[in-house]
Amino acid sequence: MATFNIWMNGRLVPQEQAVLPVNSAAVFYATNVFEGIRSYWSERDGEMYSFRLADHFARLRESMKMMRFTVPYSDDQLFEAVRTVVTGNELREDIHMHCVAYVGAPGLDATTQTGLYINPRKRPRVMEGNGLKCNVSSWTRTSDNAIPIRLKSGSNYQNGRLATLQSRADGYDQPIFLNRLGKVAEGSGATFFMVRKGRIVTPHSSSDILESITRTTLIEYICPQVLGMEVVERDIDRTELYVAEEAFFCGSGYEITPILSIDRFPLGAGDTVGPLTKRISSAYLDLVRGVDTRHPEWRTPTYKPVHV
Ligand code: PMP
Repeated sequence: MATFNIWMNGRLVPQEQAVLPVNSAAVFYATNVFEGIRSYWSERDGEMYSFRLADHFARLRESMKMMRFTVPYSDDQLFEAVRTVVTGNELREDIHMHCVAYVGAPGLDATTQTGLYINPRKRPRVMEGNGLKCNVSSWTRTSDNAIPIRLKSGSNYQNGRLATLQSRADGYDQPIFLNRLGKVAEGSGATFFMVRKGRIVTPHSSSDILESITRTTLIEYICPQVLGMEVVERDIDRTELYVAEEAFFCGSGYEITPILSIDRFPLGAGDTVGPLTKRISSAYLDLVRGVDTRHPEWRTPTYKPVHV
């Protein structure tokens, strides 16, 4: 697979030069915070659109604040860094990138001063076939007072890793986490939505979930304005999962990924994607690529130079 150059602390470098010291907290404890961002190639516009960059940078800053990291770059500098990644690698295809702030860069205070890198990569879709076979994990989502999932640090993702490995060992594709109260939280790296009694439902933001940017896009725009349906944000019980008509994960990386069964209970017809999931998925892909031209402020052009 082709490898791309990585933007690291101010310049593009080949992958083999983008290294972290083995004795840094960043390597040993995964003391970092990050964002997973997608950029979409639009053939029609000859442009790469990075989706909701400003919101990703705002969330990165919130994670940095909680970790007491100092913020080494302004938003303008971060926008420029993403542009450099896209133009410097001549990217004209859909790309996923990790934007990572970490401690332990040479020459910086190892407790708080952060280095930053942006690593573009191809990211295949999460599923094969029509959708995912999920299980309710026996691992509990880490709680806000222990290892907060709202804080997007690489270290926090060991919770998702344990659950995902268990799911695979048990013959499923992906886990669904319950939180410490036994209510549905989310997937390992994605937000959970279901359709129940004709309504679109998702756990509320105090359910030990990441405050997902895709979730907000669905709640504030796609469901009410494209489908004409409000999203209900509430507690979801485990047993509701088994009788839901439809379910899906969403996220920058997952986009809209249908779930076909949970603990082997088929949802809806069981082997096909439900009608609302289909409509939400195509509305989302239209939006991120600019086929739906509303909300241009969410699509940062990162290919053509902005200043003529
Ligand atoms: N939950 C977790 C734990 C995640 O890692 C992600 C992916 N960032 C999401 C939800 C979805 O968030 P977003 O829509 O902002 O990508």
